[in-house]
Amino acid sequence: MRGNKGKDTKPELIVRRKLREAGLDGYRLQWKAPGRPDVAWPGKRVCIMINGCFWHRCPHCNPSMPKSNQEYWVPKFKRNVERDARNLEALRAEGWRVHVIWECELKKDAADRMFAELIPQLKEELGK
Ligand SMILES: [Zn+2]
Repeated sequence: MRGNKGKDTKPELIVRRKLREAGLDGYRLQWKAPGRPDVAWPGKRVCIMINGCFWHRCPHCNPSMPKSNQEYWVPKFKRNVERDARNLEALRAEGWRVHVIWECELKKDAADRMFAELIPQLKEELGK
């Protein structure tokens, strides 16, 4: 199903390439923690969730709502958003530091700015 997170979606590949370039390797993919973080350093309890804007209802770019079949989409999106919030809470309760990257933040102009903030933060958290 399209709503499921694939292992090698393009946004993930972009993020992983950036991490490798920054020397932030040693991560694990889809770690067995709440919400299965896309990228995780389990030893350091640092993880990254990479969210598709449409399925996870991005707060930044406000993806459009399908015009038809709203009785299906509205509750479905609501469940996705609620599940994300629960996962975040569960991760934080287990001591994880969680970074959420939205698909739209990986667009060319936005990506440099986003990584310029994220990479130093990760380096500090990972002690690299
Ligand atoms: Zn977005």
